[in-house]
Amino acid sequence: MEDCLFCKIVKGEIPSNKVYEDEYVYAFKDIEPVAPVHILIVPKKHISSLNKISDEDEALLGKIFLTIKKIAKELGVEDKGYRVINNCGKDAGQTVMHLHFHLIAGRKMGEKLL
Ligand code: AMP
Ligand code: ZN
Repeated sequence: MEDCLFCKIVKGEIPSNKVYEDEYVYAFKDIEPVAPVHILIVPKKHISSLNKISDEDEALLGKIFLTIKKIAKELGVEDKGYRVINNCGKDAGQTVMHLHFHLIAGRKMGEKLL
């Protein structure tokens, strides 16, 4: 999508600190980290939010979660633990309308919402 920040990052038109890339998935460091580890994992395909996933994205979502697991292992946080967050829509505070998952780790998380 032309005017999408994360599409531009995926295409390399805007710089990012890449931590992983394959044919379908791109992962990079969040520019405003809330923890020592704060990675964003996005599909290369533009999907504006979780509301917009469809049956054809089933395998892609699996790839995203396998990537999250891989990155957690590579960054050495798989045993200590980590949080995976998706903000969908206004009430959740989604600011970039390209589906992304936050991988957050490296400190004890304070608040638990559930
Ligand atoms: P959300 O609030 O869930 O939509 O998350 C958007 C995230 O994108 C925020 O944590 C921002 O810090 C992050 N972000 C915004 N612009 C950039 C950028 N250019 N590079 C890396 N992360 C970014
Ligand atoms: Zn996009």
